[in-house]
Amino acid sequence: MSHLIGPHLATLHQVSKDKTRLPDSHFSKAVCSSDNPTIPNPDIFKNLDGSRKDQLPTTAQCAVHLELLEAFHALRVSVIGSSGLDKTFGLAPKTKTVYRRTYVSRLRKYVNEPTKIKDSGWEEERRKKWPRYLDFAAERFVEWAKKIDSLMAKRASQTDSDGSPSSKLHEAQLPCLPPLDILMLKDNKIEPSLCDYLEDLGKAKGLDSPPNEASEGAEPVAAVSIKSPHQSAFLSSLIANVTRQLVFVDKMHGHLWIRSPALPGTLDRAVERYDNYLELFRLYPGKMLVPTLDIDLVWHTHQLSAHDYKTAMKSRCGRFINHDDKLGKPTLDTGMENTQELYQVHFGQMYSICLCWDCEAVVSALEAYDDDDTRELTDPLADKVSNQVLRDVQYYKAVEIARRRGDTLLPVPR
Ligand SMILES: [Zn+2]
Repeated sequence: MSHLIGPHLATLHQVSKDKTRLPDSHFSKAVCSSDNPTIPNPDIFKNLDGSRKDQLPTTAQCAVHLELLEAFHALRVSVIGSSGLDKTFGLAPKTKTVYRRTYVSRLRKYVNEPTKIKDSGWEEERRKKWPRYLDFAAERFVEWAKKIDSLMAKRASQTDSDGSPSSKLHEAQLPCLPPLDILMLKDNKIEPSLCDYLEDLGKAKGLDSPPNEASEGAEPVAAVSIKSPHQSAFLSSLIANVTRQLVFVDKMHGHLWIRSPALPGTLDRAVERYDNYLELFRLYPGKMLVPTLDIDLVWHTHQLSAHDYKTAMKSRCGRFINHDDKLGKPTLDTGMENTQELYQVHFGQMYSICLCWDCEAVVSALEAYDDDDTRELTDPLADKVSNQVLRDVQYYKAVEIARRRGDTLLPVPR
């Protein structure tokens, strides 16, 4: 159906861009919170354990991964914005009082009035909590990994009744999910317990709330140092990996496909495009191929299943393909140009495409239109599709705006 997309996309994108701003009152609000819409539709996460015959990740796996990346983004926002953690790390805005000559008409003269000046560097200062938070998370990850290793070693030493190594070993699963900060380190990912713990440390200083039972009578805890300790090379490289990974998290948050009306279509197409992308690796050994953002999501998702990834790469591309995220911009730009050319020649489709909600909803609508056998050939395609796209995108945007505002009652579809 890709032949349909090109000529229509540009016009429709324009149409939808022009008309996407609607007054807030356009949609009515849910009457009670149980009427609130659930976005994304939970069906997208179904069949998580299903696997595709062609060894590629499923849409459900990509959706879960996207949701998890969104949780990392939210974690960082909450760490940076936490005033509890400001106290833990002994951070406070440096307000200055200056005296300004002001004319007071009541006194009919100039007086020097004290004025408080805001600390302009405060927001920047607060961001320092994040790298420090990562330090703690990295240490916790190492401890967690040691425990899991010993648990797995114990299971490996177990034998079946006939004395052979346990046949259930490959089914061994983590007894429970680690907290979010540890998961974040592992993904190179649901309870941000480290954040709570550190905030409690700040409270123990008696800064925030009355001492609770545990801290009563105990020595007051000094603020935790904001300075990073000297780290082992291993910890530093672990943290550097996570920091690079967070650039990816920001990009995913920027596109916010997880709350887009076109989510299922975007993910389906991304897996298809990733399939093609791997084909290029097979055809051009030694060429540097750069993924687009949607393909990159599927690639990252695939790598989360390390064993499956390795097997799939061997059989599909003939070798293991390492995802190097340390390349500089000039190298990436040239690689992107080459990949684009090869992709278009081989698959007759655009490689670098706009992946915004509007464009993705247009493509999904065109696909649905194309699959619809009941349609009349004379249907005014552009009108029909652009109207549906407008409705969907406007509605999803309205819900997202209300959610960010913290509304308890969200807009409902008309
Ligand atoms: Zn677009």
